[in-house]
Amino acid sequence: MATTTMTKLDSVAAMPDPATPRQALPWTDTSLPPELRAAMVVAAMSQAEKFAWLSATQALPNREPAPTDEAIGSAGYYPSIPRLGIPAMQQSDASLGVTNPGTIRPGDQATALPASLLLGATFDPELAHETGALVGREARAKGLNVMLAGGANLVRDPRCGRNFEYISEDPLLTGVMVGQSIAGIQSQHVVSTIKHFLLNAQETGRPVVSSDLGEAAMRESDLLAFQIGIEIGQPGSVMTSYNLVNGTYTAEDQFLISTVLKGDWEYPGWVMSDWGGTHSTAASALAGLDAESGAQWVPDQFFAGLLAAEVAAGRVPQSRIDDMIYRTLRSLFAIGVIDDPPRPGGLIDFDAHRRVAQRAAEEGIVLLKNSGDILPASAQMSRILVIGGHAYCGVLAGGGSSQVTPDNCLQEPGVTIRGKDLPRTYHPSSPLAAIQAIAARAQVDYLDGYDVDDTAEAARAADLVLLFATEWRSEGLDAKGLSLPRAQDRLIDAVATAQPRTIVVLEIGGPVTMPWLAKVAAVLVAFYPGVGGGPAIANVVFGRVNPSGRLPCTFPATEEQLPRPCQLDPATTTSEPSEWRTHPIFHVNYDIEGADVGYRWFERKGFEPLFPFGFGLSYTDFVLSEIVAIPNENGFAVSVTVTNHGSRAGADVPQVYVGKAGHIGFVHRLAGFRRVMLEAGEHRRVEIAVEPRLLARFDVGRQRFMIEGGRYSVRVGRNAADASLVLDVKLDAADLGAGPT
Ligand code: BGC
Repeated sequence: MATTTMTKLDSVAAMPDPATPRQALPWTDTSLPPELRAAMVVAAMSQAEKFAWLSATQALPNREPAPTDEAIGSAGYYPSIPRLGIPAMQQSDASLGVTNPGTIRPGDQATALPASLLLGATFDPELAHETGALVGREARAKGLNVMLAGGANLVRDPRCGRNFEYISEDPLLTGVMVGQSIAGIQSQHVVSTIKHFLLNAQETGRPVVSSDLGEAAMRESDLLAFQIGIEIGQPGSVMTSYNLVNGTYTAEDQFLISTVLKGDWEYPGWVMSDWGGTHSTAASALAGLDAESGAQWVPDQFFAGLLAAEVAAGRVPQSRIDDMIYRTLRSLFAIGVIDDPPRPGGLIDFDAHRRVAQRAAEEGIVLLKNSGDILPASAQMSRILVIGGHAYCGVLAGGGSSQVTPDNCLQEPGVTIRGKDLPRTYHPSSPLAAIQAIAARAQVDYLDGYDVDDTAEAARAADLVLLFATEWRSEGLDAKGLSLPRAQDRLIDAVATAQPRTIVVLEIGGPVTMPWLAKVAAVLVAFYPGVGGGPAIANVVFGRVNPSGRLPCTFPATEEQLPRPCQLDPATTTSEPSEWRTHPIFHVNYDIEGADVGYRWFERKGFEPLFPFGFGLSYTDFVLSEIVAIPNENGFAVSVTVTNHGSRAGADVPQVYVGKAGHIGFVHRLAGFRRVMLEAGEHRRVEIAVEPRLLARFDVGRQRFMIEGGRYSVRVGRNAADASLVLDVKLDAADLGAGPT
């Protein structure tokens, strides 16, 4: 295998030979529109050059074919075309920071951001942009120019193994946050994808599962999240998913790619498959797929020789091949990748980036319970006991392609699935050390919690117990059930029985049940908080930071409340893309809840969750008052006064939910939100924009979003179950179309 290092990669910029006369490369004229520049390059490319950009393998060690010297080493590589001044595409995973799979770039570090669920919990679009820009800057410094980021799948099943890579269960929150994150990445002249298009809602059997859902519901939920994300972020590329939708692989789904994405939404970028997620040649090409990714994961390279043969036989027109390349180049020109190429060896301000990661965690940590205002804890306590979660060394990270693996992290054996060991990684950001630093006069001890009786005994003697419970999830592996694994419920119960001043800190990849909730004094949800997680947790515990995170997904009371309480055992089928041919296709019916994902399902069924979507406490008291609907060209906006009645500064997130009484499938939906920072005693009048498509139903017959005229119930509250402030708003009928707003 060719060794790849970061130093020999100046070719990544693929500057044209200086002897080449400029007029020979007219697309280098930056004053021309990207569409024209791309079309010019396509016209100048040979067929062989085009085909080199249609199907790519990973540029990773131990993979066949071995990467070339030009490949930096990452998830995907497409060769440069120096004679035309076109750079190589170096594609890297980047949902939670720039990855370095298999340490292919030795010594190459990156900032590990918090889980996307935690970003969702901030309800802060500006922060999403800022963390996206951080990823873009780090990518540039490494010479990478396409980020496989922008996870926009909805949390339809709280047990999905990849929920931590997604923003939320709600299409508006997901679309806005993912769109801003993509815009942040691309502000650095680096492409971002949005993925996985569409309905990749579980990992169990991901290459053989069909997600079945009717069109209206799809348009109002999962498609809407992508539609809003694409409008805001304008990602250069869309990645399809592994699964099938209504019986068709998404990489060859004419309806999703050509009718909706490129048709109704007029999406101008290129569509790549997930890695090993292409399953055919002509069918995929004609459906609109533009590139086959991770081609070595499947036995046939569909978009190489096989596609050339289809073109030669006249079954795929040459114009389709040209369109594939045109779309790719148009995005590269439009986003600035070609005019301002990244250069490997750039400097990264890791300290500054670590602070951004920490601030993100501080904004997103959710306080779920705080009996008797036990938090914030006093740093003057004399005996603090920290239990479990490897809190002495770090904070848990989720597994799979999104995992950023810094130096000095702890890796403990995770699970062995079908002979493959998946280690659990802890980012080196010790909550224990951060607690010790703040409570400097206290005796702070640590116990791993493995011996339940001894731990409970030690807890009894402490002034305060901080118990870290963890739940590890990974790509390719759904959680089994909603309980905390490894008997941690028993440990928490025993410790809380011995010591009522027990605070549980949850490092989790999605909702869990809490049978011990009544016994513990406080609960903090830190999800996977990233490389600043230790200090972020300690700062919230001791009140240096006032918690302001809001749940981005419903925490059910029991699995029985889910649309599909019974789960296929993750161990019984494959999640390996390469095994799609050997396992029978099976179906998951998402029409049960339709567009009523998460909190909407709970309202429809009248179920009371453990904690509702949007819920989160603060160390101060906020009151919402004086709500008014202000009519505008989009329907209306909501104006509300937010008052901080407490004695600390803090952020509140007023949320607008709109429903239509008596209409099946029109339970209250999040239609607007705004994060507001207020000093102690301050009050402010804020206006919250309402997204009109959340007021509409998708009319399949007319193929458009239609607002039905009549009366709507508008709740302005602190979470999805808060019905304390309600307005009655009359709306005129309106036709919103199906495409760009
Ligand atoms: C994942 C994608 C990822 C790709 C490349 C796939 O297994 O589903 O999210 O971008 O690998 O690493």
